[in-house]
Amino acid sequence: MDVKRLASFCQKVGIAYKTAEEYGGLAGFYDWGVRGAQIKKNVKDVWWSYFVERNELIGGMDGSIITHPKVWEASGHVGEFHDPIVKCTKCGNVYRADHLVEDVKGVNAEGLSLEELAKILKDVKCPSCGGELGDVSYFNLMFSTKVGPYEGTVSYLRPETAQLIFVDFPEHYIHMRKRLPFGIAQMGKAYRNEISPRGFLFRLREFEQMEIEFFFDPENDESPFYREIKHTKVRAKPWKGEEDVYMLDDIIDDYKGREWMIYWIYHSLKFFELVGVDMDRVRIRQQSPEERAHYSMDTWDVEFYFDDMGWKEIEGIAHRSDYDLSRHRTFSKSDKYVVRMGGRSFVPWVVEPSWGVERTILAILYSSYREDEERVWLDLKPWIAPVQVAVFPLLSRDNLPEEARRIYYTLRALFRTEYDEGGSIGKRYRRYDEIGTPYAVTVDYQTLEDKTVTVRERNTMKQERVGIDELLPYLGERMRWT
Ligand SMILES: [Zn+2]
Repeated sequence: MDVKRLASFCQKVGIAYKTAEEYGGLAGFYDWGVRGAQIKKNVKDVWWSYFVERNELIGGMDGSIITHPKVWEASGHVGEFHDPIVKCTKCGNVYRADHLVEDVKGVNAEGLSLEELAKILKDVKCPSCGGELGDVSYFNLMFSTKVGPYEGTVSYLRPETAQLIFVDFPEHYIHMRKRLPFGIAQMGKAYRNEISPRGFLFRLREFEQMEIEFFFDPENDESPFYREIKHTKVRAKPWKGEEDVYMLDDIIDDYKGREWMIYWIYHSLKFFELVGVDMDRVRIRQQSPEERAHYSMDTWDVEFYFDDMGWKEIEGIAHRSDYDLSRHRTFSKSDKYVVRMGGRSFVPWVVEPSWGVERTILAILYSSYREDEERVWLDLKPWIAPVQVAVFPLLSRDNLPEEARRIYYTLRALFRTEYDEGGSIGKRYRRYDEIGTPYAVTVDYQTLEDKTVTVRERNTMKQERVGIDELLPYLGERMRWT
């Protein structure tokens, strides 16, 4: 299936669509609709529950979107968070210079300097009008904004959630009881002024991240979970080797913190499985030394295979050593980024798993889309589905709606439930199949006699008669994810 088709389906059923369509939209910005906003909340809720509420090593935070501009100098975003661009002198079109080189010359332009790109592009004309191309320059991807009515007070919309976790480390360290290791999780909006947003929800200018910074002592880097998970087999592509099924222990290099890299890769894959990503389309891929950030000792991407877009990153797991905390220590001139324990003073090291919310949802939707001659449905996990139970009276008369409403009022206290009496029963089933509703409860004439209803399961369309008294435990045990 291609992502374009999924995009039109998402618009049709109210999941996500271009922002402000009546004004023609705005590239790189999407709105989540009646169904999509709930799906997004569910994915984030499961993530938060899995990684924060159920993990004693992790605490949460919710940082501000605009913060002190020095934070972005320390992080390197002011100086280095840019893409090379080239502008047509005739029509004014702007291109990513490295993408243009790749498209026109078919060579990998990753990491080339401005001079190198300019040299290759010397004899290349504008693809849209044939005009001369101008100089190659860098374009910073941060959105800047004024703070207050004062001239010159400029800051940025955060380009990532991670830095808020780093800059507040002195606070976290106290509230996580001055012990290592620990992690801090955050989710929320981030902004990047991408030159060419593309791929529906894949490359956006406004998006959400779910990130964890996991701090550890490099001289005491053992993980108590290592033994039980190190033999886990995963589909992987090491940068020097072939793609194959490997044991985690065999492919992670020997460096301080490797046991925690294994831990985070393991739980990242568990999470994707939990939210319904098709694991036959998932692999981990190690970035090559040229590809990864200069301060990173090792980076593995979790990738998802789209038939039309190929392998695409949906999460990155980066070993950042002490880079970020050391930079904040230098820029803020604060010694609170240094911890003292066991007679030593040191800056903690970090492993960072970082998910894109929209990319995760794109992979979930792509994995769960089903169609046959009769219907289209989403095979969503019950904890991700926007509506978990739909309640229908068979007909809108003879006291059936009243009985169905009574059941609806009981169920909605525990599950995301909707009541619907519009159209034929077949139409109603289809309507809720389309948005992935796992169970539909129908009240019919037999209900009035024996106090039972039919419960229909979305994927098999099989119906079962269940007593009204049994309904809560019956549905309850099918909705829980652990
Ligand atoms: Zn042009």
